[in-house]
Amino acid sequence: NLSDRLDSVFKKLKGHGTLTENNIEDGLKQVRLALLEADVNYKVAKNVISDIKARALGQEVMQSLTPGQQVIKIVNEEFTKMMGSTHQELNFSATGATAIMLVGLQGSGKTTTAGKLAHFLRKNGRKPYLVPVDVYRPAAIDQLTKLGKQMDVPVFASTTDMKPLKICQEAKLAARDLGCDTLLIDTAGRLHLDDALMAELEAIKTGINPAETLLVADAMTGQDAVNIAGEFDKRLDISGFVLTKMDGDARGGAALSIKAVTGKPLKFIGVGEKTTALEPFHPDRMASRILGMGDTLSFIEKAVEAVDRKEAQDLEKKFRKNQFTLDDFKNQMQQVRNMGSIKDLLGMLPGVNKKMLKDLNINDKEFTKIEAIINSMTPEERAKHAIIKASRKKRIALGSGTSVQDVNKLLKSYTQSMKMMKKFNKGGMKNLRGMLPF
Ligand code: GDP
Ligand code: MG
Repeated sequence: NLSDRLDSVFKKLKGHGTLTENNIEDGLKQVRLALLEADVNYKVAKNVISDIKARALGQEVMQSLTPGQQVIKIVNEEFTKMMGSTHQELNFSATGATAIMLVGLQGSGKTTTAGKLAHFLRKNGRKPYLVPVDVYRPAAIDQLTKLGKQMDVPVFASTTDMKPLKICQEAKLAARDLGCDTLLIDTAGRLHLDDALMAELEAIKTGINPAETLLVADAMTGQDAVNIAGEFDKRLDISGFVLTKMDGDARGGAALSIKAVTGKPLKFIGVGEKTTALEPFHPDRMASRILGMGDTLSFIEKAVEAVDRKEAQDLEKKFRKNQFTLDDFKNQMQQVRNMGSIKDLLGMLPGVNKKMLKDLNINDKEFTKIEAIINSMTPEERAKHAIIKASRKKRIALGSGTSVQDVNKLLKSYTQSMKMMKKFNKGGMKNLRGMLPF
């Protein structure tokens, strides 16, 4: 992937005392290849490379950085600029209810995103109202209605005999009666771009004048997503994008080039199927993530959301004094469970290597096992894991209805997270200290 690729390029650059035109040339050739491999638009890649080169060769000489670090810094800044520099927030109508229209091809994630946005908006103090407008497939209306029920967000009762624009107009009145201030309009999709669909979407847009017209596109489709974005933008004057399935093996190219190609901002990324799996898009953080510097800020935000600060500080103390026990480990697991998978979270951190993550593959189901195993340990064992040898392992496995292998796996996860924590502390990541979930 792109970050691994760039990592090795920059490792080479880091070794050089001075930066010559030759080794810049070398490094940038690698960057360019990496960008193309990540499926970044060809022209966009070419432009950003020439911007980076001009800056790297010229002016900006900094005392505090090595030449290689300087190039990384420039690449980071140019990537950030390319993706729109700063996070673009949603617009809301100054008066009356705000309408947010979601458009995009079938399967791109519109309905899922409508649910995610409802969750996001509610967390930000707004009152969302879900409006299903895909009248061609009764299943589509059902899908959103179910989602609304699950989340306890009201859904307009659309029926397949109603015209889409009419639904939106009636939904606006219904929203007012319910005290809802933000309509999330889930429009119909097609497998391919077609004129009839565009005309329908245009009619809805003109009729309700939404504050946002968001195109939802599947990041896994790479440059196709960017092309589709361009087509929709031409007809509908899109206000921003949502790229979904960024949790999959999307190569990152769409996120990198969509702003540069269309001139419109990427506002959110979808990172999973759950309603909580939506992140405001921050160009600077994404650039760092792509460059393998880790998405420290996103990580901190998530950690702070889920972990009580005071408790985290206590934990950090325990870590420093090597008193982090298996009981603490269990408590932390419980907290982290609320944040999505531990692996995702750690993947955002700088310096975490992929092999470590493989050993740390703990999901919800396994957590129940872990809990059982730790519960079957004596207090002494929980405090001093080193005393857990073969016979104790056998007893613990029996007691918890698991296997010795499971016990070993848990102990390995535990020692791995100890190791990682020590590494971060040594790395002097002061701002992360006291916030880490374990
Ligand atoms: P729509 O046809 O545009 O409304 O698409 P849906 O919202 O029904 O989503 C299509 C599929 O993509 C569903 O299986 C969703 O669970 C899945 N999906 C949507 N967004 C994401 C995402 O960010 N990550 C992952 N992994 N799956 C997603
Ligand atoms: Mg749908």
